[in-house]
Amino acid sequence: MTSTRFDIIVIGAGIAGLTSALALRETGCSVAVLDRGEPGAEASWAGGGILCPLYAWRYPPAVLAVAVAGMRRYPALLASLDSGIDPERMVTGMRILDPIGADETRDSITATLSGVGIRHEWQPGTAGESLWLPEVANVRNPRLLDALLETARAQGVALFPQRAAQGVEIHSGRVDAVRTATGTLRAERVVVAAGAWSEAFIPGLRAGSLFPVRGQMLRVEPRAANGLDHIRMKDNVYLIPRVDGSVVVGSTVEHAGFDKTVDDDAQVGLHDAACRLWPALAEAAVTHRWAGLRPGSVDEHPVLGEHPEIDGLWVNTGGFRNGLAMAPATADLLAALMTGQPTALDPAPYRVERLLAS
Ligand SMILES: Cc1cc2nc3c(=O)[nH]c(=O)nc-3n(C[C@H](O)[C@H](O)[C@H](O)COP(=O)(O)OP(=O)(O)OC[C@H]3O[C@@H](n4cnc5c(N)ncnc54)[C@H](O)[C@@H]3O)c2cc1C
Repeated sequence: MTSTRFDIIVIGAGIAGLTSALALRETGCSVAVLDRGEPGAEASWAGGGILCPLYAWRYPPAVLAVAVAGMRRYPALLASLDSGIDPERMVTGMRILDPIGADETRDSITATLSGVGIRHEWQPGTAGESLWLPEVANVRNPRLLDALLETARAQGVALFPQRAAQGVEIHSGRVDAVRTATGTLRAERVVVAAGAWSEAFIPGLRAGSLFPVRGQMLRVEPRAANGLDHIRMKDNVYLIPRVDGSVVVGSTVEHAGFDKTVDDDAQVGLHDAACRLWPALAEAAVTHRWAGLRPGSVDEHPVLGEHPEIDGLWVNTGGFRNGLAMAPATADLLAALMTGQPTALDPAPYRVERLLAS
């Protein structure tokens, strides 16, 4: 049993946990981050790294607002990282070949994108009009997570890999400690950022409020000849060119519990769609196939704020399909709320209360 006491313990070292830890460390708090496995190796490792919502206009305004705030914050976040690792952010732009869905018009899409300041151009093509978003960037997730980890270490965040939280101790309505198999770590406050596994640490949630949503991806080998220089998307399948010339193809959206199995049918479907989108990819070998579990919430909004019935128990999860893009903004919002500072975004739509059983 250890008697170490931190100002703040963050449960989960994904993008949400690490950006939260850095933002909180900057306020002068002592911060520890626990992960039950290797830090950064779950959804945040598995994602595509696109720093903009896909079909952005289809999201509720509060989801779009935090995602756009996050994508705008990325250059400053990356510039602040204290590591020799390059997250390979590339501004490639994104072309959406089937932008206008049922009940949508060119004008309604333009109004939403203009309203949040996403630059866009409608461009004619042989297969119809496409939408070009010139400012969209992507990052290489594993490199970003490694750079965040190195920075957290350099800035004095205490990192506890392979140390699963088993529960949060609450006394007289106040959080007090986090229990692990090898001892209890005491803290004034705890931030639950355990991604798809967060529900276990948030007492009183309505069943099914938070859940995993599997996403499968694949990657094809670097080939100079493939010529793809932008993110390209149709029918919910997207292609992302990386700095080394490889192309990442994503993704499925599957409700399969905590199962990260990669299945052949889904992979063949993704690969076929990718080759239709960019025929040169048919010549390239698939080098990697994987799946990750996005942290979903029942109303698709992130979950951020203090538990209304437990002092000191905070939550930052529910990033779902945009958790990487929104992370710098949710971390800022969390740190502002925890230190009583003014917030750049209205926190109301993200509050924990909405998911509690009455
Ligand atoms: C296939 C796929 C494609 C995606 N593409 C994009 C994209 O292009 N752009 C975008 O913005 N988003 C994308 N996303 C979504 C994004 O990756 C996630 O929303 C985001 O990574 C969630 O981060 P997180 O930190 O909340 O969760 P995670 O990264 O899952 O981190 C949670 C951490 O908590 C740890 N943990 C769990 N239980 C415990 C415990 N008991 N004790 C201690 N630690 C624990 C886990 O080990 C894990 O490291 C994608 C996701 C997937 C799966």
